[in-house]
Amino acid sequence: MAILNIVKEGDSVLRGKCREVTEITPRIITLLDDMAETLHDADGCGLAAPQVGVRRRIALVEVEEGDLIELINPVVIEKSGHQEEIEGCLSVPGKWGFTQRPMKVKVKALDRNGNEFTVEGTGLKARALCHEIDHLDGILFIDHAEMVDPKDLDLE
Ligand code: ZN
Repeated sequence: MAILNIVKEGDSVLRGKCREVTEITPRIITLLDDMAETLHDADGCGLAAPQVGVRRRIALVEVEEGDLIELINPVVIEKSGHQEEIEGCLSVPGKWGFTQRPMKVKVKALDRNGNEFTVEGTGLKARALCHEIDHLDGILFIDHAEMVDPKDLDLE
């Protein structure tokens, strides 16, 4: 496995619409493994393929340690409720803002064996799922967040 470089805001790879995965090749499996290692190294709660320079519809979410969810071609199929919470992004270091997200989502995706599954998330997990899926359409949280001054946050 390898730790990949996380591209930052301003790189055009973050702004394209990613292509669906049509075949789960050994390269895709390696990408999933490398993304997991990269996510753990960065101590984030989610990572999307364009953040490591790959324009494919692949994302990881891990809001609880050990509960790594690999999502291939994920689609939000249900959403309900509303939350407004603070959010950041590994590709937008040092910036934070409040985003409007559904409180609960249900997502359909493929796993690494090509089997379809659904996953539900509430609260932080719902936010992470929406945030990562947004990445696959070239959307960053700063596009719709109400930004806050980091000095006003007690992050430590
Ligand atoms: Zn992000």
